[in-house]
Formats: sequence, C-alpha cells, structure tokens
Amino acid sequence: MKKIQMVDLKGQYERIKETVNHAIQEVLDTNTYINGPQVHQFQKSLEEYLDVKHVIPCANGTDALQIAMMGLDLKPGDEVITADFTFAATVEVIALLQLTPVLVDVDLDTMNISIEAIKQAITPKTKAIVPVHLFGRAANMDAIMEIAEAHNLFVIEDNAQAIGANHTSKKGVKSKVGTIGHVASTSFFPSKNLGCYGDGGAIFTNDDALAHKLRGIVNHGMYVRYHHDVVGVNSRLDSVQAAVLNAKLPLLNTYNLARREAAAKYNAAFAGHENIVIPTFESNGDDHVFHQYTLRIIDADRDALMSHLLGKDIPCAIYYPIPLHSQKAYMNVRYKEENFPVTNQLVKEVISLPMHTELDEVQIQFITDSVLEFLK
Ligand SMILES: *Cc1c(COP(=O)(O)O)cnc(C)c1O
Repeated sequence: MKKIQMVDLKGQYERIKETVNHAIQEVLDTNTYINGPQVHQFQKSLEEYLDVKHVIPCANGTDALQIAMMGLDLKPGDEVITADFTFAATVEVIALLQLTPVLVDVDLDTMNISIEAIKQAITPKTKAIVPVHLFGRAANMDAIMEIAEAHNLFVIEDNAQAIGANHTSKKGVKSKVGTIGHVASTSFFPSKNLGCYGDGGAIFTNDDALAHKLRGIVNHGMYVRYHHDVVGVNSRLDSVQAAVLNAKLPLLNTYNLARREAAAKYNAAFAGHENIVIPTFESNGDDHVFHQYTLRIIDADRDALMSHLLGKDIPCAIYYPIPLHSQKAYMNVRYKEENFPVTNQLVKEVISLPMHTELDEVQIQFITDSVLEFLK
C-alpha cells in the first residue's frame, strides 16, 4: 500500500507534471513574474467557471477576506457576525480592521453557522455576516441572504474551503458557492481544493462598482498610476501561481468528484455505527466538496482513536481543537459559554481523516478497517 498522506500533493502533481512544468517554464521564459498574462487568463477562466462577473486575484485567502471587508467601507465598531467554529483567519481580519467580531454558534449537523444564532446576535450595530463554507459544505445561504435582506447587512462568503460546490436555491436557481453573497473570498493554499504551489487567493463579486474599488485596494489604492485614492494594500497573485492554477482549474470538477467518491466510500463503511456520525452529502440545497472529511465520534474516546490511527501511520487531525471564542486573542466579555453548546461539543468530538484526490480503494479500506477495529 502507498503511504497514506493527509493531503497527497505529490501524487497529484505527478499526474499533471508535464502541463504544470510547461506552464511554469512559460513564465520563466517571458519574465513576467508579476501581473503576467497568466494572471489575467486565470482571472477570466475563474470568472467563467464560477459564472461570476468579477474575480480579483490576490496574495492569499486571508488578504482576500480583509480586502473584501475594506471594499465594503465597514467602520471601526461595526459588528460582523461569523462562526465560532472555523479557522482563525476569518475572525482575525475582522479584528485587524477594528471591526467588532461577533462569534456565534454553529449547527450540529452541518457544522456551519447557525441561523438561529445569527438572528439572536443582530443588533443595530450589525453590518455584515461572514458565513464560512466549512470543510467544503456551503452554509445555509438561502436563510442567510433572507436575514441579510431583512436587516440590510452585507454577506461576505468565506469560500476558502468550498470552491466548486454548487448551491441550489429554494427557487431552484443553481449557482456556485461564493457567488451568492455580496462578495466572497477564496484561498489557493496548496492543500485547498484548488491549490497552487505557494500562496494565492481571490475575491469574487457580481457588483461592478465594488469590483472596481477592490482592484484598486489590492494595488496600494491606485486607480491611476501613482494616484492613491484610498488606503490599499499590496496583495498580488504572482504569475507562477497563476500558471499552476491555469493548469489545475480545468481539473477542479474532477478533483471535487474524487473527493466526493472517497467520502462516499468512507460513509458506506461507517454508516449506522453507533459511535460515528458521518457527514451528509446534501443540506439546504448545497452539495459538499469535502475539503475535509470530518466525523463526529460519540460515546467513545476520540483522542484514543486518533492515537490508534497515528500508531498505524494513518494521518488524521482535529479541525478545530479550540473554539474561537475561547482563544486568548478573541475572548470577549460578551461571550457566554451557554451560547456555544455546539462548538464546545464539536471540538471534543470531531476528527478529520485523510482526504485528497489521490486516495485509492486499498488505502480507504485500511483506514476504515482501522477506525472500526478501534471502535468495534
Ligand atoms: C485557508 C483558510 C483561510 C485563509 O487562507 P490563506 O490562503 O491561508 O490565507 C481563510 N478561511 C478559511 C476558512 C480557510 O480554511
């Protein structure tokens, strides 16, 4: 059996080596490392893939979120509601911009931001909601957009983990996740579903005026060379990363399908087990592209299971071990433990198993057998 990786970037690279090497060589040959034609091509291809009017490439997914918020003219003290159970980047940029993060609980079945919790957290100061499409599953966007409309709030989708996932609205309209809110961010960190070979990110929006503004912000607030109209940042996707992404974007659907197939095999092995809650494929009209394959382990020793798997050379991880409201940097007197029953439970129950595009039948069998052998 091939050694099992949490994410098998090498195996994936081997299959696209020629295309990627050629694409990178082209950048080297033309010496256009910044803002080369590869970046523009990638922008256009991603706009087409997502069916969104504007893609603004930038340096990474954290910048993408920050720049999206800068573009919306949020002011210090404005409250921004986001999920307590996510990677810290989401809350970090809210705090950096001196906005007030308002962390709320998530749903037990989807692990995504709770609609009830959003409703309870809204105050006259609330200006935006940042749903995170966690682990590759879209947050409940129909409900979130309804709340946003009713309260005149911006919706900024953190789509770092769910690029390519489809959303079907209650009215039956199908669209890509990340094109539903006012603006969205994504990350091309190597292990993400569409990863480059370094750092990369992008912002998406259908709003022409906002897109124009964002294009200036990513480039030092310049709209005309050496005229700085707004405070901006330096956040660029470089041409080498864009070249890699141009080679990989046509494979994104195949990659997501491979992840879904691996997840289906895991689910088939674990279905009905009394100690395992498996992830569902569909919820609220959204499909799941399995950035992570995450189980809940109930009435059993999750940490001992993890040691058992690691002992058999099966990588696994706890995403995420500590709720954001309990992190030193983000603690706040406004948070009461009783408002976070689900995140407090999830951090004790979740375990993520290897998930990538190269998992084979034999590896999955070994992983599922090893989990079941421990849980009996
Ligand atoms: C990866 C990730 C980010 C940050 O992306 P980077 O490219 O690493 O800056 C933000 N939010 C979520 C949910 C992520 O998973």
